Amino acid sequence: MVIGLLLVSQCAPKIHYGYITNEQSLTELATRSDNNKDRKACSDPLSYAPYNHLLHPIRTVRINVHFMNSTSREHNFDEKTGPKYFHNLLNVANDKLSRNQKMNLPHGNDTDVLDPQYRYELWPIKNHNDGYLYHYDDELCFFVNKGKNKNNYNKDVIKKYAIGTDSILNIFVMPHHPDSLATGKYRASRTGIALGTSLKVAGLCENREKPWEFSTLLNHEIGHIFGLSHSWYKNDGCDDTPVHANCWAPNNTEKCKDPVSNNMMDYNNSQMAVTPCQLGKIHKTFASINHQLRGLVVPNWCNLDESQTIRIQEDDVWNGALDLSYNVVVEAGASLEIKCRVSMPRNSSITVEPGGTLILNDCRIHNDCGDEWKGIKLKNTKRETAKVEYHGDVLIENVQQDI
Ligand SMILES: [Zn+2]
Repeated sequence: MVIGLLLVSQCAPKIHYGYITNEQSLTELATRSDNNKDRKACSDPLSYAPYNHLLHPIRTVRINVHFMNSTSREHNFDEKTGPKYFHNLLNVANDKLSRNQKMNLPHGNDTDVLDPQYRYELWPIKNHNDGYLYHYDDELCFFVNKGKNKNNYNKDVIKKYAIGTDSILNIFVMPHHPDSLATGKYRASRTGIALGTSLKVAGLCENREKPWEFSTLLNHEIGHIFGLSHSWYKNDGCDDTPVHANCWAPNNTEKCKDPVSNNMMDYNNSQMAVTPCQLGKIHKTFASINHQLRGLVVPNWCNLDESQTIRIQEDDVWNGALDLSYNVVVEAGASLEIKCRVSMPRNSSITVEPGGTLILNDCRIHNDCGDEWKGIKLKNTKRETAKVEYHGDVLIENVQQDI
């Protein structure tokens, strides 16, 4: 037994640790290289596309729902039917997101199909509401998207009734105006408009039999909230959403021959496909540290989740900002280059194994939640060391200094 222990201790290489916890220890333990600033780093939406679920865990967008009605209470769902309808709609919208489909266009494309990695959750405010709110207001309750009384872009109803707008996406369910409907020329269409961190939607109570029919429009409107444009245009900022005629469904005309678009951000009878670039744009908004829309997402990157570890086993580059939930280990023979902002969860660390390389390139590593993390741990043996290189301005923040 004693011999066995001796053998083990003789064979196991002795490990010396080094810790990078701030800019000073960085200059002491890392090698400075020429600044090869990558000006495009951090901006390309594709760098944020949720290919790797360890880097892009599922995000939860908080929502609440305001049912707007007249004081006569005859123009919208009542307080029993409204929540029932919307609960159903929300479930179908989340389910449709989870079943993202392959793009129809361009014909023969090989565009990847990713899980969008975000869902919506009804968000009650404790002792105040259950996530559903009701307002009876003859002046502000109606929605008009055509004619001289058009008010679809007007924010008065939001200004008066929205709550928790820094952390909750407020959805206003509004009836179309009865005077507009009475003209006979105005349709109670299913429609919506994204205004900042709030959304006005109409046509639900007039078409109440099938809540699921509104689900993809909800996904479309929330897509607008998080920065997506209509994708049939050329300038939507994504190469994987081709220009097309924006047909509702295929027909016998040359313009709308089969296949037509099924993208979520077009007007078609499917709206079931969302591309890597579009998802990248949404996740880029989630990761934009000073963006007001980031506040709508539950910050589940604050606490360390030890059920998994991000293991770098081949050369990898992080070109987009990340909010991580796990420890990171750069293994022997592999390298990791970090080019943007990375938030590390409380008490987490980045470990570089002997023979592993970490390259810090004009990046910022911090904790976004007002807590501290444990910094970069270098494991060295007599034979092999952990290498860290840095370029340009590197910020290492919020690290416990008593290691
Ligand atoms: Zn739209």
